[in-house]
Amino acid sequence: MSVAAQYQAFQQLGLKLDMSRGKPAPEQLDLSNALTGALTSYLAADGTDCRNYGGGVGLPEARALFGQLLDVPAAQVVVDSSSSLALMHDVIVYALLNGVPGHAPWVQNPVTFLCPVPGYDRHFSICEVRGIKMINVPMNAEGPDMDLVEKLVAEDASIKGMWIVPKYSNPGGVVYSERVVQRLAAMKTAAPDFRLMWDDAYRFHHLGERKLAVANILDACVQAGNPDRAIVFASSSKVSWAGSGVAALAASPANIAWWTKHAGFRSIGPDKINQLRHVALLKDVATVEALMEQHRQLLKPKFDAVLAQFQHYLGEVPGVSWTLPEGGYFIDLITPDGAAKRTVALAKEAGITLTPAGAAFPYGVDPRDRHLRIAPSFPSLQEINQAAQGIALSLRLALEG
Ligand code: PLP
Repeated sequence: MSVAAQYQAFQQLGLKLDMSRGKPAPEQLDLSNALTGALTSYLAADGTDCRNYGGGVGLPEARALFGQLLDVPAAQVVVDSSSSLALMHDVIVYALLNGVPGHAPWVQNPVTFLCPVPGYDRHFSICEVRGIKMINVPMNAEGPDMDLVEKLVAEDASIKGMWIVPKYSNPGGVVYSERVVQRLAAMKTAAPDFRLMWDDAYRFHHLGERKLAVANILDACVQAGNPDRAIVFASSSKVSWAGSGVAALAASPANIAWWTKHAGFRSIGPDKINQLRHVALLKDVATVEALMEQHRQLLKPKFDAVLAQFQHYLGEVPGVSWTLPEGGYFIDLITPDGAAKRTVALAKEAGITLTPAGAAFPYGVDPRDRHLRIAPSFPSLQEINQAAQGIALSLRLALEG
């Protein structure tokens, strides 16, 4: 059967699948249903009444838990409400309006961020909406092109920051090597108030048997004499419940004091009841790892199904490749130049909503129009099998012109 006929047959199935975002599936959310009954008291270990205002830096036991999870002293961790993305946004806004410790507000001069690409669309949207110019930096197998990064930050004092997803990056699944981490910590920046926005969103989200680790960036920064350079973000969004997790920020004592001061103006304290029940559920590193293994059991077959369909339908197609992630939530399907947008449109006509082509690039522009972010987590295994087939057929049809 011709590709066009196969595509038409697929279209006739009348499917309606949304694969646009990396959301956990309901079965994954069910793994943390014990949260509903996890509270035995509304008092924290130190007697804090979690029903009331206060506790801007988070409960001591929640800070201790995230300190353990992130391998950082509890005193250098703040636990806030549910979204780490909100913390990233606020760090940028505070830096723009007030400056980072000891420095003038960023907004007094043009501000630029380096953006490893392909990357996370919402990072780029924050920059766009807050008036920060973005420069693309290509990703390699071990992280961003560090020769280019070092050159750019040394020359241009408007470069105040850089986005980093150090492990199982969204969408390429890249794991930063120790050498890259050290170079990021030690590189000479023309801007003295440069910050690494270290988004450790997928720290525990392994898909393979190997649990890959990334060097501790805060330690590397201290050793390199740049203790305030990195701000680490994480959350339990894809560990417990994506809409009701807890988020954390870890950084140097100076950055923590700075954050606490500014965050104190925007809230009289986070949701400590949620922190308390998360401490009861997640307990320690071993408990989190056991829970993540259950997530892995649910996610791995879905990733395998997509990869098998791609191999079947696209394995012999010149110029088409895809990543084989060892963790995280995405597969990056790479098409020949100029075929990604057309593939997304054809998939849509066949009932599959994909992330818009270009979304993984600043300003939504993939200069070569060739990256498709595939998010296998949410649909059922049967749906994902069908969707991967439909995406592959859409791509093949797009390539036929
Ligand atoms: N960072 C990355 C790289 C992500 O992929 C996501 C969600 O997909 C987030 C952050 C969102 O984190 P949170 O739910 O803690 O706001």
